[in-house]
Amino acid sequence: TTDEATRVFTERESDVRSYCRNWPVVFDRADGIYQYTEHGKRYIDFFSGAGALNYGHNNPVLKRALLEYLEGDHVVHSLDTYTVAKREFLETFEDVILKPRNLDYKVQFPGPTGTNAVETALKIARNSTGREDIVGFTNAFHGMTLGSLAVTGNSMKRNGAGTPLYHATPAPYDDYFDGETADFMWLDRVWSDSGSGLATPAAVIVETVQGEGGLKAARAVWLRELQALCRRHGVLLIVDDVQAGCGRTGTFFSFEEAGIEPDIVCLSKSISGYGLPMALTLMRPELDQWEPGEHNGTFRGHNPAFVTGTAALRTYWTDDALHDNVLERSAQLREALGRIASLTDGATVRGRGLLAGIAFRDVAVAGKIAAAAFDRCLLVETSGPESEALKIMPALTVTKDELAEGLEVLVEAARDVLG
Ligand code: PMP
Repeated sequence: TTDEATRVFTERESDVRSYCRNWPVVFDRADGIYQYTEHGKRYIDFFSGAGALNYGHNNPVLKRALLEYLEGDHVVHSLDTYTVAKREFLETFEDVILKPRNLDYKVQFPGPTGTNAVETALKIARNSTGREDIVGFTNAFHGMTLGSLAVTGNSMKRNGAGTPLYHATPAPYDDYFDGETADFMWLDRVWSDSGSGLATPAAVIVETVQGEGGLKAARAVWLRELQALCRRHGVLLIVDDVQAGCGRTGTFFSFEEAGIEPDIVCLSKSISGYGLPMALTLMRPELDQWEPGEHNGTFRGHNPAFVTGTAALRTYWTDDALHDNVLERSAQLREALGRIASLTDGATVRGRGLLAGIAFRDVAVAGKIAAAAFDRCLLVETSGPESEALKIMPALTVTKDELAEGLEVLVEAARDVLG
């Protein structure tokens, strides 16, 4: 029975576990957009490991590269020594991602996961400016270690942690006032005013789409104004592209469409492409002021993740096919989301690319639709401080038919709830 199958989790695993509460089955195998329980029941996965599986589960090209690497007895763990796998990743990242975009960033491997990239970014900003404060935005999510938590907006996640390590000032995100413009005049003024009580910060950290915070997407003009504000005051602009990056919005970096060039960029989730832990902190070369060993860690570059990451970049980022698929599939997704939104008053479609969803006026609706979808074997999640938004993020490689299949289930689930 399900109870026996999940006993060790409910009794032994910490009560902090979360996703499994909505999806109380035991998964075993996975392939593309599908996950199968230990009994072979098939679920369509439109959550994609919270954005860690942009190329689908067990992507065959990446799997082949990984298996060849393992079968060849190449180095798996290597601290931060030079390896062939790391060299190939860095060369590929330079040739496929940075050079064609005219970007010049030094690459740091800050540790295995997204929050490591954010902690490192904050430390670089403080180190290189000599200033302390960081500005983050309302509803932001940057990770659960104490520095990234300090710039995360969600008070439920912050409350138990005590005083944040960083002095972090929250600022209203784009559209925070529901249609009223949230401009930067006040920040411009207080940073210039020694009587304001707010010191000029070291950096501003921003997500272009708030993946965890309710799926609002910043407008390109807002991001450009933010960059201009930062440049006027010598404040570093950090874009946290952990969730919205690696192609989620169509372009490799989510900020490309706005034409901005952040000083520091955080990447993780799908940078290995295969769901293996990996993170990058990119910085303008002059910000790389570290002393050797000043910032270290045991898992600063996992070679199997370099191998799958290199294969992902070579397979998906040397032509426009994936980018075009994201744009076409996101139009298909938005059309279905619009149909669901029209079933009830005050629902708004949010997000950009394949990081999109619907926010409902009755905050309970999103969770009910996600539960009804699970009953129909579709995995979707909610987002936002009150879980008020239904969140859809299929693999970027999803085909037209696969997306249509899942969206049909989603529309049925929405009808179950909204009548
Ligand atoms: N930044 C953003 C924008 C994220 O969405 C997340 C994870 N949801 C993180 C940082 C933290 O990443 P991780 O959970 O891998 O530490």
